[in-house]
Amino acid sequence: MKNLTREKILAMEPGKEMDALITEKVFKKCPHRTIRSYYCQSDSGQECMDCGEDLFGNRCPQYSTNIATAFELFTKWGYQGSICFSGNEWHCEIMYGFDPAGYGVYVKAEGTSAPEAICKAALLSVLAKEGDG
Ligand SMILES: [Zn+2]
Repeated sequence: MKNLTREKILAMEPGKEMDALITEKVFKKCPHRTIRSYYCQSDSGQECMDCGEDLFGNRCPQYSTNIATAFELFTKWGYQGSICFSGNEWHCEIMYGFDPAGYGVYVKAEGTSAPEAICKAALLSVLAKEGDG
């Protein structure tokens, strides 16, 4: 993952940029970063300049600010891990692979909200899988 580091991930604030990173790096989908609005006599709307998808105002799912959407990492995409609240912050562990002995290996992240912790752990897991973490 070029120029995205563990330090940068942990320093990020929840919001659109984090949602776009999750969409791009975790789910390998177009994050719709470059959006064009169009207006003509018969129609108006927004489309992504990269993939051409007509967006109707829908951008990336709000993984980093919406708990129901953040939980999709586990329920819909099969990430193995846990989330808990302890010491006044949220802690998330996500398994990113196995060690040579066959035990799961995990990355951990904290956040002031559960979605933030889940998103940061998910991004760290991508980094760890690529061997940069
Ligand atoms: Zn797109």
